[in-house]
Amino acid sequence: MMIPRDIINRRKKIYLTLVAVGFSAMAILAFIEKYMPHALFNALLYSSLSLLIVGNILMYIGIRCPKCDVIIGYAIVFSAEKVVQCPRCRINFDESIL
Ligand SMILES: [Zn+2]
Repeated sequence: MMIPRDIINRRKKIYLTLVAVGFSAMAILAFIEKYMPHALFNALLYSSLSLLIVGNILMYIGIRCPKCDVIIGYAIVFSAEKVVQCPRCRINFDESIL
């Protein structure tokens, strides 16, 4: 059985991982900066920063309703209450779509 919530949560987990990896990489870089060449440090810094930013952006625009494709990331991430249905097509995220 597949429920929309599973699809949404899987996406969210992927994007959260991107953000977490980017953030961790930057934290580590801060500690090892003095032990590495400046050019390498810059390259790694910009890579992890990009990862952090891309993960954040995807969290907003990359989570969509499995049925009507409307962007729901913003609501999912910031709603204090659990988002139970799509704001556009009103499908219930906890009911099977198959
Ligand atoms: Zn929808």
